Amino acid sequence: MRKHSKEFLQNLTPYQGYELLVEGNERFINNLKRDHDHLELINQTRDGQYPFAVILSCMDSRASAELVFDQGLGDLFSIRVAGNIVNTDILASIEYAVKYIGSKVLMVLGHTECGAIKSAKQGVEDGHITGLLKRIQPSINKAMLSDNDNYMFHDKVAYANVENSLEEILHGSEIVKEMFENGEIGIVGGVYNIDNGQVDFFKNITKKKKEERQLASV
Ligand SMILES: [Zn+2]
Repeated sequence: MRKHSKEFLQNLTPYQGYELLVEGNERFINNLKRDHDHLELINQTRDGQYPFAVILSCMDSRASAELVFDQGLGDLFSIRVAGNIVNTDILASIEYAVKYIGSKVLMVLGHTECGAIKSAKQGVEDGHITGLLKRIQPSINKAMLSDNDNYMFHDKVAYANVENSLEEILHGSEIVKEMFENGEIGIVGGVYNIDNGQVDFFKNITKKKKEERQLASV
């Protein structure tokens, strides 16, 4: 079945969508990236788009979702903003992706060494930057309370910040909440490590469909 088709997207389960991201990052870190024929992909996507995932990630130049998941034109809805924070326009974009296009996975992707997080910790205030950094503050407070010492503090905040954005999406969007509860979409949180290219898929609350659970237990 052709990847960029309505049929492909309708038949893909949320869990399979999650696996496509995991496999894509495996290819990326092993330098086995697919040969994305951009001109051919332009042809395939000219009549419509059927991206299987919507990913909210940071604007950081080292953390492009298409590259780190080895995806091509038409594969992902990519929403990027400093610190992968959530606001109402971002919620609207996510709602459009999952409800009107049929993307099966909603992912929030943070990353290590995030400049927005570092600036928030330093209390930087300037222009519109002030308001954006305030949105990261709850994650800093949460990370300070956490007893998990596996990460450097600012990277701990990166994890808390992904969790926080996922919570804000689920609490802020009835559409997303309902589709998730009905098993129509999967929800994934990850942190990209800028040292080695690996995504830590630390949160996956994607429900497997009944058939998939049966297969897994065979
Ligand atoms: Zn960042």
